[in-house]
Amino acid sequence: MKTIIEPFRIKVVEPIRMTTRRQREQILRDAGFNLFLIRAEDVLIDLLTDSGTGAMSSLQWAGIMRGDESYAGAKSWYVFRDKIREITGFAHILPTHQGRASERILFELVGGPGKVVPNNSHFDTTRANIEHTGARAIDLVIDEGKQPASRHPFKGNMDLERLENLIRETGPQNIPLVMLTVTNNSGGGQPVSLENIRAVRAVCRNYGLPLFLDACRFAENAYFIKLREPGQQDRSVREIVRDMFDLVDGATISAKKDGLVNIGGLLLLRDDHLAQKADELLILTEGFVTYGGLAGRDLEAMAQGFEEVVHEDYLQYRVRSTAYLGERLLDAGVQIVEPPGGHAIYIDAKHFCPHIPPAQFPGQALVCALYRHAGIRAVEIGSVMFGQDGNPPPMELVRLAIPRRVYTQSHIDYVIEAIGEVFANRGTLRGLRIVSEPPALRHFTARFEEL
Ligand SMILES: *Cc1c(COP(=O)(O)O)cnc(C)c1O
Repeated sequence: MKTIIEPFRIKVVEPIRMTTRRQREQILRDAGFNLFLIRAEDVLIDLLTDSGTGAMSSLQWAGIMRGDESYAGAKSWYVFRDKIREITGFAHILPTHQGRASERILFELVGGPGKVVPNNSHFDTTRANIEHTGARAIDLVIDEGKQPASRHPFKGNMDLERLENLIRETGPQNIPLVMLTVTNNSGGGQPVSLENIRAVRAVCRNYGLPLFLDACRFAENAYFIKLREPGQQDRSVREIVRDMFDLVDGATISAKKDGLVNIGGLLLLRDDHLAQKADELLILTEGFVTYGGLAGRDLEAMAQGFEEVVHEDYLQYRVRSTAYLGERLLDAGVQIVEPPGGHAIYIDAKHFCPHIPPAQFPGQALVCALYRHAGIRAVEIGSVMFGQDGNPPPMELVRLAIPRRVYTQSHIDYVIEAIGEVFANRGTLRGLRIVSEPPALRHFTARFEEL
């Protein structure tokens, strides 16, 4: 069969509030052309992020009812711990309220002035938590990872030569750990191969350095390995996931992605001494070690989410449905970051609106056009987000992130049709000017005016 169906039926529905183009025009103006400032109920298809926006299964909701809310040693903690241990093999499992809480604890322990942390590409919260301690965060993704049209199968891989050079220049004593983000979110959701994880591991061994994963999308990464890496086709995703975790000394995870929950996170550690210190910080700022800032019901939902996310019919649907959106956009002539990643499609806004210079925010112009035309909410990843220091970033992108198990194929067909229509009339898109902005992280609150 050619058609890959959604591997679920729908038991609970949430109505979408329809709006007219005229209403959206007014909403856009009232929000200063910034879609972070509109109400979610005014959005038809919300592709702002895949973080915490997924739909839980009936078994996850059943877990919510089963949640044991005892302060210490709750039954739900043991259900959660055993499931994470089964999937990852880690001895020390710390629950946190989300990914950045794990990052804060880890880097408070190993960061500090003079330290350097290499990664393929640091996610913004990871970088911020490293830099907050006075350490430096360095990105070492391979060159193909920075070229939108390159079709390299593992564009999230780390450049091994640059890693070795960095370790030699900095001195291994100044590098507390090396990190790999799977899949590479900041680089377009591109995967890292098992071979690259092994090779990075070998370099780390040579210099006595621990290797950590930022494993938010570990299951999507494992599925890409199964699809694309020679010799991995006949192995199960569970085995590949286990290989990925067996190669590393620790991991930070946001369960709002492949954990299939709306809130939650994890810190995984092998080293007993580091784990003991992390437990102390966890208790200080998150909660006791058997709940870490979450309710017992959240732990139950996470345990079930980590089980469901390694199911291969789910992953086939997930990766294929994202690729479907990307391929149809390419067919329509829209340039995207190729090949399609796991959780999102990134449109090249410079290619989409060549008549709008970076100083007039082509990505933001496209984001506004998609909302005005069809009620779709996407996010600009270009000069608005990263150009506040006066240096425009190399790419002007618009990200369409796909929430997990939320939208059906007809929703995605609507998105494809809408983007095709906006593309056909792209000459009418107008650049923007900022009328007010805060001193930092302006993309959340800046207000614009159309030129
Ligand atoms: C989302 C994300 C994080 C941070 O997780 P939060 O749950 O949002 O705090 C860290 N790294 C990557 C790669 C992510 O995608």
